[in-house]
This record gives sequence, structure tokens and C-alpha cells, in this order.
Amino acid sequence: MNKRKILITSALPYANGSIHLGHLVEYIQTDIWVRFQKMCLPKEEGHEIYFVCADDTHGTPVMLRAEKEGITPEELINQVHAEHLKDFTDFHIEFDNYYTTHSPETRKHSEDVYTKLKAVNPSLITTKDIEQFYDPKKGIFLPDRFIKGECPKCGTKDQYGDNCEACGAAYAPTDLIEPYSTVSNAALVMKTSEHFFFRLSDDRCVNFLRSWIQEENHLQSEAANKMQEWLGESEKNNLSDWDISRDAPYFGFEIPDAPGKYFYVWLDAPVGYIASFKNYCMKHNANFEEFWNKETSTELYHFIGKDIAYFHALFWPAMLECAGYRTPTQIFSHGFLTVNGEKMSKSRGTFITAENYINQGLDPECLRYYYAAKLNGTMEDIDLNLDDFIARVNSDLVGKYVNIASRAAGFLVNYFDGHLADIISLDYGKSIELKQLESSKHGLHHELLNKVGLIQAHMENRRYNQAISVIMTLTDKVNEYWDQQKPWEKAKQIKNSPTELAMNHPIRFSLHLVSSITIECFRILTIFLKPVLPVLAEKAESFLNVDPLRWIDLKKPMKPGHQIKAYEHLVTRVDRKKIDAMIEASK
Ligand SMILES: [Zn+2]
Repeated sequence: MNKRKILITSALPYANGSIHLGHLVEYIQTDIWVRFQKMCLPKEEGHEIYFVCADDTHGTPVMLRAEKEGITPEELINQVHAEHLKDFTDFHIEFDNYYTTHSPETRKHSEDVYTKLKAVNPSLITTKDIEQFYDPKKGIFLPDRFIKGECPKCGTKDQYGDNCEACGAAYAPTDLIEPYSTVSNAALVMKTSEHFFFRLSDDRCVNFLRSWIQEENHLQSEAANKMQEWLGESEKNNLSDWDISRDAPYFGFEIPDAPGKYFYVWLDAPVGYIASFKNYCMKHNANFEEFWNKETSTELYHFIGKDIAYFHALFWPAMLECAGYRTPTQIFSHGFLTVNGEKMSKSRGTFITAENYINQGLDPECLRYYYAAKLNGTMEDIDLNLDDFIARVNSDLVGKYVNIASRAAGFLVNYFDGHLADIISLDYGKSIELKQLESSKHGLHHELLNKVGLIQAHMENRRYNQAISVIMTLTDKVNEYWDQQKPWEKAKQIKNSPTELAMNHPIRFSLHLVSSITIECFRILTIFLKPVLPVLAEKAESFLNVDPLRWIDLKKPMKPGHQIKAYEHLVTRVDRKKIDAMIEASK
């Protein structure tokens, strides 16, 4: 069998802010896919699957914030790294390596990529003079977010460089009247400086990209169409060369042989994917070269937000191709998160951090489940409607899924000491009732197994919403089966019978069989849901008294006589009070 080797990444969060529920759309989406792949392609069978990420640490904002807090940038990024990793761990995002771009591996590979692009003949690195706002008091060039001034349209003071909060006009920072620095309040001056550029508009890049974006589903079709627009018609492209440098003082890596010039984020952040994996390989003795050489047959998948699709779908593959590295197998872009149908907002209390969600005692798996129920593999935005969140999680997980376990386990433990009946080779007597049971058993158990391929295809294609929909339909069917069989009536008959009913008495047997079939169906549903609900699945495995469930276990039912444990609480209802408290705390 073909041994697959897969490297998966999520985009690198910037080391100057907290992880919020918007970020988590991506990390949860990726983590579910990674866990699904790992369940289907186990390590013991020779498959290799790695999930890496890192903090994006360099740049002026980190430098300025560290200065403001009176610490070094290194101290700041270490602190933020610990916070980010805690947030991810709280939401059960299981990276194989969560690293930093402020690393020797990033420096080495950034230099390597740059040097190779420069050495191509004619060179793919060029320089241009760029005019930029300069803060004469601080002695630094300023990113747009540190520039304010008067709106050129309506004259409102203290507006940011991209749009006016008063009249809504959009403009460039250079259009602002009397621009000033929000760092030092100094009036800004325009200053010219030489920047380094990657020649993305060069024919060699453009020709490569024209075929790359059309081939082998590298991109979702909507992303491919968008990129095609940028690439333009055969004569003319709409690409511009890509600025990859910033001037000192800057927190980052100095460009080789260019004193005072530093690699800008577009170069060293994506190299962070390479570097994080390199760091993993060194720690775990894995084969780095095998994944990044040009002729590799390994697979590389990037999960990203649609806002950085241009960059990941054009700049990054062109840069890798021209520097002699492998290019991505596929790039999966997703949309943004809205909360209650609107953009996340601090004043409405919907700008919710990961930490705030956890601090209210809300279950991270409820959010994982809700996102999964919404994510459809396209670039559409997804909405976290908080009323719907409460209703859906409580209904699906508490009311339907774990309900199956609590109902069936009670009878199994009370009447059969937790031991399961033989649900596969039915040979329990030939009463009419049992014959009916037999056929209904085949109906239900097989109905679940018949959907394995469909669920697997939905998961593989990141249509988690469709997978969840199929799984919940099956969950309904298991509950309906239970209701139709009315096992509680049989239990009552057993209880009320004057003598202890023999083990093979039809009534006792029927109760045993219905409960056993139901609990086996619960096991199957747990396997389906495990990539989404890893901790709940772990608790279910312990209750079912089985080894960690893999995809292959779908078709290996629990054996006759297998003993489950007494049902213990698996999941808590979402409490509206906690949601309200979270909104208040986010304001
Ligand atoms: Zn205005």
C-alpha cells in the first residue's frame, strides 16, 4: 500500500496580539483535517503526517510594543509564544511543532531562498527607491497603522491612514493632511530609501504561475479564478514586484551583504513553515530533505485565510519554484468569522479572545463542533450565531449523541453487568420478535456503515458541514430505533416477573440485543466525530473500554461479551449565562 507523507500548515499568527475566535476558525479547521488524516493513515502503518506552525515574530509593531513595555523584542515574543500555545492547546489544536520565525532555521532558509533568487540569471531580486513616511523623532519608517492625520475628504482630525471613521472615505496614507506619527506625535516627512524586490512580474514567474494555478487543483476554483485575474491575459499581467525589505531599525534578520536592510514579513514568515518543520525534523530525526526537494512525492497543504490568498497562491509558489524548492500540493483558503451576522466588534462584545471563552468555563469542543457544522470547504465567511450555537450544540451533542450512550449503557450495566450481546452472528432462538429484531439490526448497523465512504469524502474535501449533517441524520436514526424498540418496557417486564428470567429468555435477550446494537452504533458515531471532538471521544473510549479508535475500527465491532463501564457524564450543556458573561467580558 502507498505510504503517504503529508505536511500540513496553518498560517502564522503575528506575535503582537491574542488569539481570538476568528483565528480559531482556521486552526480548528486545520486540526480537524489533520486528526482525520491521522486516524485514516496511522503512523503504525508507515504513513507520516505532520502539522506545523509558528509565531510570525518580526517587524516594527513587535519592536515598538516591546519598547513601550520596556522589554526586549525577544522577551515579548517568548511571552506571546507561550500565550498562543496555551490558547491553541486549550482548544485541542495538536501541532507536531509550534515554533517561531525568530529562529536560526528561519534565518538560514530565508538567506538560502534570497541568495538563490538573486543568483538566477538574470537576477530575480531587484532594487527600487521607495518614498515612505518617516518619523524623524523616532528615526524610523512607519507602517501605515502608526500613521494618523486629517481626512482629505471631510477634514476630520486623527484618522488612520486607510479610511475615515467619520465619512467612510477610503484613501492612501499619503493623501492624509498633516500626517503624524502615533508613536512620537512628530509630523511625518517623506523620505526615500532603497528597497529590495522579488520580481514577481517577471515572465519566468508569470509563466510558471499561469500553468501552476490551473493544474491539479492547487487552488479552490474560486481562488484560481481570482488569481487568474491578477495574472491577466497572455500579453500583460497585473502583478507587481514584491517588496521584501525594510530599513533599520527593525526587528528581524538582516539581508546578506546589505547592511541596514532587513527581510520583510513576506519573505521570512512563509519560510517559517519550512523552518518549523526543519526544527521538528532535527528534534525527531525525520527526513527534512524528502519533504522540500523539488522532485518530492510528499504532499504539502497550507490552510490560510482568504486575505492572504494572493500572497500564498502567487508570491509563495513562485518564490519556492525559482529558488529550487518544492511547491505546495494544495492551498485551502477559508472565509472570515462573523458573530451574530456582523463583523467582530469590541463595542458589541463580539471580539472574543480564546482566553475569554475558556475563562467562562465554556467547553472548547462545543466551538469545534459548531465550526465544523458550518465549514463547507469554500471561501465563504462563516457566522457564529450565539443563539444558534447554544441551541445546536445542546440539541446535537447533548440531546442526540451522548443521549444514545446514557440510554443504552444503563440497561447494559444494570441487567448484563456491562457485557455486550453478540450482534453479529445472531443465533438466539427463532421467535418472530427476534426475527424482526434481526432484520432491524441489519437495517440500522449497516445503515451507519454504508455512510462511511460518504462521510470520509466530505471530511477529505473539508465539507465538514455535510459530514456533520450525515452523522446527525444517523444519530437521529439510532435514537428512533431505540424509541421504536422500547427497551424500557422489556426491562419493566423483567423486573416485574416473579422469577429471574433466564439469560436466553426472549425478553431478556431482546433487551440485551437492542442495548448492545445501540451502544455499538454509539461507538461508530464516536469514530465519525473523533476528529472534531477528540477529548469527548477519549472519554467515550474509556467508557466503552476500548483502545483509541481509528477509522479502520469502524468495521470491527466490539466483541460479544466485551464489558463496557458505567456511563459517566460526557458533555455539559452550553449555559446561556456563560455566553452572556463572555460578551460582557469582551466589551
Ligand atoms: Zn472623512
